[in-house]
Amino acid sequence: MLLEGKSVFGGIAIGRLSVYSKKDNRVKRFRVADTEAEVARFTEAKETAKEQLAGFYEKALKEVGEMNAMIFEVHRMMLDDPDYTESVTNMIRAQGVNAEFAVAATGDNFSHMFAAMDDGYMKERAADVKDVSNRVIGILQGAGGILQQKGKGMTGEEPVILLADDLAPSETVQLDKSKVLSFVTRHGSTNSHTAILARTMNIPALTGVDYPEDISETDDAAGSAAGRNLSVDGAMGIVDGYQGIFYINPDEETLLKYQRLKEEDEQKKRLISELKGKENVTLDGKKIKLYANIGGVADVANALANDAEGIGLFRSEFLYLESTDYPTEEAQFTAYKTVVENMAGKKVIIRTLDIGADKQADYFHLDKEENPAMGYRAIRICLDRRDVFKTQLRAIYRASYYGTVAIMFPMIISVREVRQIKEIIAEVKAELDAEGIPYKDVETGIMIETPAAVMISDLLAKEVDFFSVGTNDLTQYTLAIDRQNQRLDNIYDSHHEAVLRMLKMVVDNGHREGCWVGICGELGADTTLTETFLRMGFDELSVSPSMVLRVRDAVRKSTVS
Ligand code: PEP
Ligand code: MG
Repeated sequence: MLLEGKSVFGGIAIGRLSVYSKKDNRVKRFRVADTEAEVARFTEAKETAKEQLAGFYEKALKEVGEMNAMIFEVHRMMLDDPDYTESVTNMIRAQGVNAEFAVAATGDNFSHMFAAMDDGYMKERAADVKDVSNRVIGILQGAGGILQQKGKGMTGEEPVILLADDLAPSETVQLDKSKVLSFVTRHGSTNSHTAILARTMNIPALTGVDYPEDISETDDAAGSAAGRNLSVDGAMGIVDGYQGIFYINPDEETLLKYQRLKEEDEQKKRLISELKGKENVTLDGKKIKLYANIGGVADVANALANDAEGIGLFRSEFLYLESTDYPTEEAQFTAYKTVVENMAGKKVIIRTLDIGADKQADYFHLDKEENPAMGYRAIRICLDRRDVFKTQLRAIYRASYYGTVAIMFPMIISVREVRQIKEIIAEVKAELDAEGIPYKDVETGIMIETPAAVMISDLLAKEVDFFSVGTNDLTQYTLAIDRQNQRLDNIYDSHHEAVLRMLKMVVDNGHREGCWVGICGELGADTTLTETFLRMGFDELSVSPSMVLRVRDAVRKSTVS
């Protein structure tokens, strides 16, 4: 079966499909004759789940620090809870039911019980007990699981092509990224965060693919004539991220063709990697800095592997999205310090919290808004919730001591905001001085991602050291096209003359006041514009790690005079 979609990142993936469903695992109840064997099956699955959780804990400890990793320890403890185990085994023995059903029912009961408690902490455990039960059910059903809610096509070892309606940033942070070959989603636009994640991970991804839940057996590679329906979950698939094509159960000929194309593609990628260690310089000698965008500690290795000269955008909100409560100063400090130390003196530009709109964390208790993209978000929240903002600034300044840190602020629309930020920074520095905590000089900059910031960039340039243009938001606000709205993808013209003129205006205004100017939105990686950006005078481009060498290639083929 061949389906079409919109490519958000090129490349070819071949592998089994796994459907990510937000719904709880549907579990059938059936009677078992040998209840003791069923209890043993449960015990074994529980042990496997505990091993998986111990692995996740170790991984999270390295990637996101102890505080965020703790959740996996909590899950492990839940599985060891005698009441939980007793409830499952009693149900199997007394009712003669299958282990999956007993685990699902116990998970539901415990979750209701937690939800009814007065204590806020215990209330929050309602979701955890369901998560951990789903993990055990997944194992009982024969799936290893990269997500809590998972399709049966996923084995523990084999990486998969992940099918989903859409993925929220809070869901993508939970992915075991080494187990994902590609994303295929029904919704989500070219600039959604799933798309950005795919680019960061350097894997092909398609959106707008209306894949079916079931396929008839005649669509099966086996070509059986019977009309029985089979789930797509677990079927073979091919994602052609270059042409926006998706195959389910491809025939032998197609499979062979794509295996060949995939090899050629890998060959090309190898050639690109030969550009490692080379300068970012045009044919006529103009240099530009190429930095990488990251979402967290785990992406640093990829940035370094692709020869990024620095981090041009650290989307710090992912630290908040991964947490179930406000990340502490200590947890943030550890994450920033790890990135800074790993970059070993190369510049790390940390963007302060850009939460709101499509990036939601429950514990912020943000109201539902008519127009979230134009609502209470980013710097607006930080200037309002000074406690939250100061905690982050303290963590960033503390981390500055360990390398070269710069800081930038999202969604700026006025000089007044920048001055308020400076006052808060002065308070933070005074506190650190009083406590004898060391920090270094930190360059300050702003994101230019609103038309207002472009139009007053001459004034803003007097206030800061640098500008970084967020073309994703700037384009959506300039063209009045919601970047999340898939229906508008066909008129979302990222090369619109209005946007290009704005870019030139920002560079000129920045340079006049001695600011350096870069781009950290997705447009920065558009190699058809690399020469244009060089000619406009941009000093830096910050792109997904996987794009650094491709942009280097484009720079080295450009001329500016
Ligand atoms: C942008 O808006 O271009 C940007 C880089 O920020 P984000 O994509 O995180 O909104
Ligand atoms: Mg933005």
